Amino acid sequence: MKILRTIAATRRFRSQARGRVVLVPTMGALHAGHAALIRRARSLAGMAGSVVVSIFVNPTQFGPKEDLSRYPRPVSQDQTLCASLGADAIFHPPAGEMYRADFSTWVHEECVSGGLCGASRPGHFRGVTTVVLKLFTIVQPDVAVFGLKDFQQCAVIARMVRDLDLPVRLVFAPTVRERDGLALSSRNAFLAPEERAETPSLRRGLLAARAAFLAGEGSAAKLVRIVRGEISRSARVDYIEAVDSATLQPVRETKHGDTIALAAFFGRTRLIDNIQLR
Ligand code: AMP
Repeated sequence: MKILRTIAATRRFRSQARGRVVLVPTMGALHAGHAALIRRARSLAGMAGSVVVSIFVNPTQFGPKEDLSRYPRPVSQDQTLCASLGADAIFHPPAGEMYRADFSTWVHEECVSGGLCGASRPGHFRGVTTVVLKLFTIVQPDVAVFGLKDFQQCAVIARMVRDLDLPVRLVFAPTVRERDGLALSSRNAFLAPEERAETPSLRRGLLAARAAFLAGEGSAAKLVRIVRGEISRSARVDYIEAVDSATLQPVRETKHGDTIALAAFFGRTRLIDNIQLR
């Protein structure tokens, strides 16, 4: 497995690659959720193709008061995992390789990125779309794999790919969870034991709302109340919303295929999750 630290080395790797190139963009601190994406990438690439995992804690998607400096960076552990899953290369650039001191060009999706996490994390999705477009132009993958845990991110990237005619196929993979329902996240490591104990209430709330929807409850407000009622009192809810899965616009009356998405703080740690109503 190659460790690519520069854009020039990555371009050389790309020009020598035979078969399909599949990219899995990550910020590292890899867990079983990332591993599922890498396995999926391996099967999409086939024997002849190449799997590239990018590991880059992208500074431009963090707000000034967010957890950029304390974000975990277990580099050698990540490399071992990628190698064991059959990745062909890791693209792991230093921040200066991706952003020059006078960097001034941004990609800004203006519709899908406005609500939900976009409303509470101003500038976050501008950082995401910009870095993902850069990764696409550097690695030039045929296919890129993302996780549906970051449901809004998937929708924003899908819109960018469509609007800018980017020649890449997107694959979205299901959320991998702990046995008690908590979605795996690199940020789960920040949770104190008593906070961790309360986190399964997110999934319980979403499952209760979906059960109510399937039993005939259509009102978005009522479904949101059901979710909120399950979530531990010690959590601080950022948002719970029922939205159309493609446009991410809020709905009043839910329909088959809509999504309920949420974000909540357990102590200082902000967790997100979502469920599709079907
Ligand atoms: P991150 O390193 O958090 O930026 O995530 C990198 C990719 O892994 C994104 O496409 C995420 O949606 C995906 N991902 C993160 N957590 C999970 C999970 N629990 N299950 C599946 N995919 C995930």
